[in-house]
Amino acid sequence: MSELPLLTQDQTNRILDRLRGKLVGGGICPACHGSPLLLANDVYMVTKYNVSTRGVNPNGQPCVSLICTVCGHSMFFNVFVAGLTDIVGLTDPPVEAGANKP
Ligand SMILES: [Zn+2]
Repeated sequence: MSELPLLTQDQTNRILDRLRGKLVGGGICPACHGSPLLLANDVYMVTKYNVSTRGVNPNGQPCVSLICTVCGHSMFFNVFVAGLTDIVGLTDPPVEAGANKP
């Protein structure tokens, strides 16, 4: 699997603009009510961990993360559901057997 590249400053700005338009309070941390929230300069794959088999499902969902600069609270936003595919350059959601598509 190839590693996804880091986000450019332009991508970061566009993602922040789009997410802030969707968030209640425009991007104030829901945990401590501090601000600002920073966008981690990366795309993450959030996947499931199976406790009984102690295995990690290789099919994850690409997400971006906002991190509160005051308390460290971190939030992940699914790239497909948040409508960020055009910005990060992804087109097709990953396929996971037995799972609903986002
Ligand atoms: Zn916070």
